[in-house]
Amino acid sequence: MMPWPSSPELLAPLSPWFERVRRDLPWRAVDLDAPHPDPYAVLVSELMLQQTQVATVIPYFTRWLDEFPDPQALAEADEDRVHKAWAGLGYYRRARFLKAAAGCVAAEGWPGDLEGLADLPGLGPYTAAALGAIAFQWPTPALDGNAFRVLARLLLVEGDPKARAADLRTWLAPALAAHGSSRMTQALMELGATVCTPTPACNACPLSDRCAAHLAGQTGVIPPVAKRAKPKDSHLWLVALEAEGHFLLHAPAAKGLLAGLWRWPTFEVARHPPQPMPQSPQSMTAWHGWTQVYTHRREAVSPLHILLEARFCPAGGLRWVPRGELAGLPLGKRDQRLCNLLETPEQIPLEGPDPKMLLTALSK
Ligand code: SF4
Repeated sequence: MMPWPSSPELLAPLSPWFERVRRDLPWRAVDLDAPHPDPYAVLVSELMLQQTQVATVIPYFTRWLDEFPDPQALAEADEDRVHKAWAGLGYYRRARFLKAAAGCVAAEGWPGDLEGLADLPGLGPYTAAALGAIAFQWPTPALDGNAFRVLARLLLVEGDPKARAADLRTWLAPALAAHGSSRMTQALMELGATVCTPTPACNACPLSDRCAAHLAGQTGVIPPVAKRAKPKDSHLWLVALEAEGHFLLHAPAAKGLLAGLWRWPTFEVARHPPQPMPQSPQSMTAWHGWTQVYTHRREAVSPLHILLEARFCPAGGLRWVPRGELAGLPLGKRDQRLCNLLETPEQIPLEGPDPKMLLTALSK
């Protein structure tokens, strides 16, 4: 290991800085020196915050705790309700993991050590360590992307700091023990999220007088930026097909990224040129589209509503859902947006495409 300065000394200014700037977040304990009064709230917040911004998470977190106030309530909840409560946050596996982890805690209580937390469904090393530190005050260093960036700069770690994860954890642990595990962990996260961002605001940083990368003028190159693959582009029709007071949707898959979610049928615009429909539509509405951005792809979405006179026998995996049940279905963000369009009369529909298009693929 490099001769790094001692972590309790180097990180000492973080504690008073955090007391000044800390935000009131609904999952954050008032007393950061005691174990958290509700470890379940910390677990929920940590899983929601993976891949999702704080501002987006807050209303979801509040509603979630109202609906599933403790591990027992979540473990016993119907899967559709759980997915519905998560709908819009994305990465739905997290909801299923959270429910499974709640089941373990409801049955056996909270694990007594880091290994036990890491064995809970869906908790990787980072989440287990964050939960250990924030909920239980264990000196378990939690390194996420933000913390890796801050430590890499403070200690002038060259190359990918994740390759030094074990060294960095060993280095950080004494600072947690000295200044409080919950406080230090959250202070480091806060610094990485608000000050030591990819383009850091060093003049607002409480550690600027001791940060090796700042003093060496190296903050632009440490840590090195990982090259991202270019996202794949596609252009889809997103279709709400209605007949006899029912809508046609894909029923949820049991596994995979979209498990548990209902979906509107989609058609790639380029691969599905207009085709004759099995029956003539009574009406067709097309709205302005939008671009849906995922981690590895971008979808240009063109939403459509097509009203038919009669239902037909749908192809495998598709179901006719009564209009009144639509609001209760768990849907992803993209698909919920089409629901909102259907429910918003003031939307001004665009002229639709040729009504003789597509949809033979939806019927048997
Ligand atoms: S001085 Fe700048 S680079 Fe160093 S920790 Fe603070 S914000 Fe990050």
